[in-house]
Amino acid sequence: MTVGQLDSSIVKITNSANKSEPLPNDKLNFGKTFTDHMLTVEWTAEFGWAVPEIKPYGKLEIDPSCCVLHYAFELFEGLKAYRTSDDKITIFRPDMNMKRMNKSAARIALPTFDSEELISLIGKLIEQDKHLVPEGQGYSLYIRPTMIGTTDGLGVAVPDKAMIFVILSPVGPYYKTGFKAVRLEATDYATRAWPGGCGDKKLGANYAPCVVPQLQAANRGYQQNLWLFGEEKYITEVGTMNVFFVFKNTETGKKELVTAPLDGTILEGVTRDSVLTLARARLSPEEWDVNERYFSILEVEERAAKGELVEAFGSGTAAVVSPIKEIGWRGKDIQVPLLPGEQFGELTKRVSEWIADIQYGREEFKDWVRV
Ligand code: PMP
Repeated sequence: MTVGQLDSSIVKITNSANKSEPLPNDKLNFGKTFTDHMLTVEWTAEFGWAVPEIKPYGKLEIDPSCCVLHYAFELFEGLKAYRTSDDKITIFRPDMNMKRMNKSAARIALPTFDSEELISLIGKLIEQDKHLVPEGQGYSLYIRPTMIGTTDGLGVAVPDKAMIFVILSPVGPYYKTGFKAVRLEATDYATRAWPGGCGDKKLGANYAPCVVPQLQAANRGYQQNLWLFGEEKYITEVGTMNVFFVFKNTETGKKELVTAPLDGTILEGVTRDSVLTLARARLSPEEWDVNERYFSILEVEERAAKGELVEAFGSGTAAVVSPIKEIGWRGKDIQVPLLPGEQFGELTKRVSEWIADIQYGREEFKDWVRV
């Protein structure tokens, strides 16, 4: 007998008795409120994926010995649905998130699934709660697909039971009053990811250990860690975002947009890929180089001293781009230029507009948008 494939056509839908009213936009806090329904799909090694269920949002019941609680058999994704100017609901590049989710699952011996089937199920889930997708620039529905191992018992082994669940949270803009550039602490005493590790996968186990270094940075007045790696002090990521720097060669006048290469220590950000793709298509190659290469805090320090550091920003689904204004490094603060009187640099602003125009349907970009 062949084990069951994930199949969106057989989904069982149980309507919630609750039909929540949308909260006013100014009351939307990231990941604090959820919509009325959730999706769950169970998997067993014997039978494969069971019938997917869309049902009222509610608690999960698991045994205290369940492997997710002891050995962190857990992975997740984060993507968003947008209400466009012509009142369609679209999801931005979900195929990228599904591909990444399958890679995360494979890394911790959890089952993989057909990406298109989960996208279709997420579409059906959103359909149930579509009145809760907020309207307006910066507002969206955050989608959190998650997979856990659910085998009971304390042996460390390949889980023979697992579950996907998806929950939805209406969210507002990351920066409620426009961009707010952040101060980072360049962190080399703690390491987010390392060669041969799993920092390029979206495993829950990668996130908890980053909270203490963030707290320590916050105690010193910095909002986030700029994660460095190795003796070379390579710049890898910022907080839970990928990171881009812009340099200008003072001799040739040429500018460079640079981010760390995907060498297994970098989360393969969907926003990172979108920034690179759009920058390569839209920035003039006479004026710009767009590079994925190793670069270090020492290079940033040296080029800032020469007046060659132009701007820097983080990239991720939550904020799209997050401008950087200062980097604490070895007792000094490296200043990152912003436009006069503003909280962002020129390219940061342009990139954010390029992406928002696609997400909110002001610009057609069929390959990246699913209705
Ligand atoms: N790096 C890390 C560690 C992250 O958690 C995220 C958020 N998923 C990102 C980068 C940005 O990825 P994306 O653009 O897909 O949101």
